[in-house]
Amino acid sequence: MRTGIFGGSFNPVHNGHIHLAQAVMEELSLDRIFFVPSKISPHRSIAEYASGEDRVNMLRLACEGIDGFEVSDYELRNERVSYSVYTVEHFRSNFPEDELFLLVGSDMLLSFDKWYRFEDILKNVTLSVCSREDGDFEALKRKAEELALYGKIEVCTAPPVMVSSTEIRKNFEKNQDLSCYLNENVVQYIRLRGLFGCKTADEVS
Ligand code: ATP
Repeated sequence: MRTGIFGGSFNPVHNGHIHLAQAVMEELSLDRIFFVPSKISPHRSIAEYASGEDRVNMLRLACEGIDGFEVSDYELRNERVSYSVYTVEHFRSNFPEDELFLLVGSDMLLSFDKWYRFEDILKNVTLSVCSREDGDFEALKRKAEELALYGKIEVCTAPPVMVSSTEIRKNFEKNQDLSCYLNENVVQYIRLRGLFGCKTADEVS
């Protein structure tokens, strides 16, 4: 099987994440992609950071009905710091026959050679990148060529969907309509749980 691993804080998951996963799945003919939410320190402010459980629930809602999209709570369950190299090694030992792909957005590719044991990551996966901003394609191609020394890098050609979780969290605080950036069920979940400082239906009425 051709299996993708897609890590991130997903705080919350948005259409940019889903777009990246769909673009890579289509362009590189993947069979499945595991979304792997990372641990966030429990000391962080609740208005800004949703719990692991809430982030998994939002991911499940966003992936519902999309063939091959799965959610893994591996990093949340694990005691140790969630370095990507450990996650990749976990998937490598669970699926020894699979060809593995690690999905990242452009910001992550550009800083990839600062990641802990990035050379070992590239021994196990094809790094699969998607643009996040208009005009970053050439920079991605150059970085991919530099990193090709260590392993395989694929840069997808899909145009970017420019949205970030930070922007979304800010807009929730202001109670703005976000349905064009997020799955409708995720919007409802956030409102119901009063995440990211947004008012619940009871508070609004
Ligand atoms: P934050 O704004 O909180 O930093 P984020 O929107 O960057 O969050 P993360 O969950 O940190 O989202 O990102 C997980 C992965 O998804 C990273 O590899 C990131 O580059 C990628 N990604 C996030 N948003 C997009 C987007 N709009 N297009 C393509 N890739 C994206």
